[in-house]
Amino acid sequence: MGLYFQLRAGGFAMNERRIVIIGAGITGLSAAFFLKKSLADSVKILLLESSDRIGGVIGSIQKDDALMEIGPEAFLSIKPQVMELAKELGIIDRLKRTNPESRGSLIVHSRKMFEIPEGFVLFAPTQIGPCLRTNLFSFFGKLRMGFDLIIPRRKKMHDESVADFVRRRLGKEALDRLAQPLITAIYGGDIERLSSASVVPQMVQLEQLHRSIILGLLGTREQRGIKTVADKDRSLFMSFDKGMSVLIEALSKHLPDDCLYLNKSISSVVPKGKRQWLVQCSNGESILADAVIICTPGPVASKILAVADSKIAEELDSIKAPLAMTVNLLYHKSSIKDELDAFGFIVPEQDKSAIRACTFSSTKFAGRASNNTKLLRVFLSEECRTALWDKPDYEIAKFVTSSLRRYIQITGLPIDFHVARHLNGIPEYNVGHKDRVEQIFLQLNSLPGLYLAGNSYSGIGISECIASAREAVRKVNEYLSDDTCLKRLSQPAEA
Ligand SMILES: Cc1cc2nc3c(=O)[nH]c(=O)nc-3n(C[C@H](O)[C@H](O)[C@H](O)COP(=O)(O)OP(=O)(O)OC[C@H]3O[C@@H](n4cnc5c(N)ncnc54)[C@H](O)[C@@H]3O)c2cc1C
Repeated sequence: MGLYFQLRAGGFAMNERRIVIIGAGITGLSAAFFLKKSLADSVKILLLESSDRIGGVIGSIQKDDALMEIGPEAFLSIKPQVMELAKELGIIDRLKRTNPESRGSLIVHSRKMFEIPEGFVLFAPTQIGPCLRTNLFSFFGKLRMGFDLIIPRRKKMHDESVADFVRRRLGKEALDRLAQPLITAIYGGDIERLSSASVVPQMVQLEQLHRSIILGLLGTREQRGIKTVADKDRSLFMSFDKGMSVLIEALSKHLPDDCLYLNKSISSVVPKGKRQWLVQCSNGESILADAVIICTPGPVASKILAVADSKIAEELDSIKAPLAMTVNLLYHKSSIKDELDAFGFIVPEQDKSAIRACTFSSTKFAGRASNNTKLLRVFLSEECRTALWDKPDYEIAKFVTSSLRRYIQITGLPIDFHVARHLNGIPEYNVGHKDRVEQIFLQLNSLPGLYLAGNSYSGIGISECIASAREAVRKVNEYLSDDTCLKRLSQPAEA
C-alpha cells in the first residue's frame, strides 16, 4: 500500500499539501473552518471522524414536537467565542435566550427545593440580604461563610482540590450544600479530586489578589458583567432556535469541498521523513500530512500518540473522561403535578440519589415541547451511569422516572424518551491538571507540525473548545509560514 491511501476516487495530487484534523466535534469542525479562512485554497484540509456523524457530544434531536439535546444544551454568553463564531457563520439571528420568567436553578437540600440565593457567584455570596434570608444554609453556615472576609490568604501556591479550597474559605456547609452539587453538575468528577487552579481559577486568583474571595468578587468587573448580561435578547446561558446542533450544521456548511470523511477511526500519527506525519486509520488506510491537529478526547489522543511520543501519551491518558449519559424524558402535561417554573434542579451527593441534575428543558427554553407536554433532561450519578450503561433505553427511562418521583410529582411513564451515551464525557481536571497540560504542550514543541485541541486541556465548555481550535490553527499558520517549512513545501511531497 502506498504512503497515503486514496481517501477519494482519483486520490490527491503528488505535491498537494495537507493538514489533517482528527475528530469532528465542535473543536475539529471549528479548526477546519478557521483553517479554511486562513489558508490558501491550494492547501488541502481533511477532517477525519471515526463515527458516522459530526458534532461529537453535541446533537439536537427533533422527536415530534420535542427538541432533545444529547449533550450540551447551552453556552455561557459571558465568554465571547460562541457569539463571535455565530457572527462569522451568519447565524447570530438564531440565538435563543433562556425564559426570563423562570425562577433560575433550584438546589435540593434535605429533599426540599431551594432557590440559589440572588448574588451568588458560583458558591460565593456577594449580597448580604439574600444570603441571610435563605433557608438553604444554617445560621452557623452563613456565619462561617462570612469568615472569608477575615481569614488570611493561603501562602502555599501548589494546587489544591476545589473541596479543600471551598472548605478553607467558606466552610463545610457551603461546600456540601452548594459548591459540590453546582461544580459536579458542570464538571462531573469528584470535587475532592478536581483541581481548584483549573476548575475555579478566577476564585483562586481572587484570593491571591484580594485575600477574600467575597471582597474580590464585589470589586471585579466579571461580577458586574454577570449582573448586566441579562437583557431582552441575551441571558447568561444561551442556545439556538433549533438547539446546539444549529452551530454544528452551520459549521458543516462552511467546510471546504471534499474535506470531511466519516467512519475514519485514526489509530496512530507517527513522524515520517523530516517534517511530515503519517496518519493511520484503523482499517489500514493511511495518509501523509504536513500538519495534524488532534481534536479527540484526551484518552483517544493518548492512544493515537503512543508511538510518536510515549511520554505525552502517558500524560494524556491520565486526563480521564468518564462515561456520560443524558436521559431526555417527555411527559404529558397532566402527568406532572408541579409547575416546573425553574430551569431545573441540582442534587448534592449527601442526598444519596441516583440523580445529579435535572433540567426542565421545556421551561428553560421556549419551543422545546408542545403546549401539552413537558420535557425533562436528567444526568445521573457516576455509579448509576456505569450500572445502567448496557441496559435497554426503556429500562433506563423507567428507572429515571421512578428516581425523579422523589423530587417531582409524576404519575405514569414518559410518552417518549431518548437516552444518549458518550464513551468520553466531560474530562476530569484533577489536582495538578494545569501543570500536566503545561508539560504536555511543552513536550509537544519537540514535535513540530503536531497540535492538540479540545476539551481535555484548558476548559471543558464549548467556548473553550472553540478557543483551543483557534489557537491550534494559529500555530499551524505560524508553522507553515516558517522559513524551513516553506522551503520544504516548495519541494514535492514524499510518497
Ligand atoms: C453531557 C454533556 C453536557 C455538556 N453540557 C455543556 C453545556 O451545557 N455547555 C457547554 O459549554 N459545554 C457542555 N459540555 C461540554 C462540551 O459540550 C464539550 O466539552 C465539547 O462539546 C467537546 O467538543 P470536542 O469537539 O472537543 O470533543 P467531542 O465532542 O468529544 O468530539 C470529538 C470527536 O472525535 C471523534 N473521535 C474520537 N476518536 C476518534 C478517532 N480515533 N479518530 C477520528 N475521530 C475520533 C469523536 O467521534 C467525536 O466526534 C457538555 C458535555 C457533555 C458530555
